[in-house]
Amino acid sequence: MLHIEGLTVSYGPLRAVDDLDLHAEDGEVLSVLGPSGCGKSTLLRAIAGLVRPSTGRIVLEGRDITRLRPDRRDVGLMFQDHALFPHRSVGDNVAFGPRMQGLARHAITERVAEVLRLVDLDGTQQRAVTELSGGEQQRVALARALAPRPRLLMLDEPLGSLDRVLRDRLLDELPEVFRAAGITVLSVTHDQQEALAVADRVAVMRAGRFVRQDLPHRLWRDPGSEFVARFLGLEQLLDAEVAGGVATTVLGEIPVEDQPDGPARLVLLPDALHLDDNESAPGSRRAAVPALAGTVTARRFAGDHVRIEVDCDAGPRLGVPVWRGAGPDPGTRVVLRLDARAVRVVSPDLGTDGTDGAGPARP
Ligand code: ADP
Ligand code: MG
Repeated sequence: MLHIEGLTVSYGPLRAVDDLDLHAEDGEVLSVLGPSGCGKSTLLRAIAGLVRPSTGRIVLEGRDITRLRPDRRDVGLMFQDHALFPHRSVGDNVAFGPRMQGLARHAITERVAEVLRLVDLDGTQQRAVTELSGGEQQRVALARALAPRPRLLMLDEPLGSLDRVLRDRLLDELPEVFRAAGITVLSVTHDQQEALAVADRVAVMRAGRFVRQDLPHRLWRDPGSEFVARFLGLEQLLDAEVAGGVATTVLGEIPVEDQPDGPARLVLLPDALHLDDNESAPGSRRAAVPALAGTVTARRFAGDHVRIEVDCDAGPRLGVPVWRGAGPDPGTRVVLRLDARAVRVVSPDLGTDGTDGAGPARP
């Protein structure tokens, strides 16, 4: 549906998008996830025709649109900063696209109500957009992007300024909205939760390039590189020395599969560490490496769990989720268990040269 080959966009000496390839299937929801400044907005602007690439080709449904005027491309872009018409009402803003397409008056009215209902703003047609909160303006912008039924809908940080409740609701509803609309969606964000919840596939971007493309659950369960792991919020990394399928770390020996002998870097997935409170099922001990002793140094309430920090006698400070009760007080001596099934080998981060040891982007 969308094929991008060798796309480069430069601002002077800076390659904001650097020799990028991207393919999206019809109806696919693809999320580009990357830190601020990595080139996400520039990529979308190039596809929309708002910046000119220096090299590369953009093909949409078999049509080469690389040099086409923006209004001939049949793509919709919802900007990061909404870019609503401030002097027009909500209804007029949303009606803009369908009106440009020459839809009949009653069809426009119907379509406006339909997409406003989708974003929970039906009935606000007459209001001035300047009266709305930031979150409401963002929803109007989403409605405006959806209204003309573009073949490719591009969203730039779509849920960025929404409050948590609305954001979570939209995270639940958006995939269904996209599927019902039958459109291909390219969404970019720096928010991993948003990317993982909404997308069929996630491309992780760094310094103008993709370092990894994969299904959300595979990305999460096996980040592959230290950069991706850290970007997903997996901050607990360990140095190891591997010999014969066993990684020796400061926390003990951890079995690792298919890993050559030599130095390696390991990441602990969120469910790797548990408090050993003698309530665990006897069978689960088999996959755990020897017990770790330490002292609780901090405790933080994190909504559905309590997170404690433990200074291990072996050296590292580890964050451990506690799922029941209030968790031990700071100062308490505890024993941790490390579940070897939730430990992954990652390639180390070698810097921002775009390669970062992640290897080529995986299809
Ligand atoms: P993201 O959307 O991922 O935050 P951008 O695409 O906005 O990243 O920016 C990528 C890089 O290009 C950044 O280093 C940014 O400072 C730079 N950049 C963006 N727009 C311009 C511009 N119009 N002129 C010069 N540099 C720009
Ligand atoms: Mg941006």
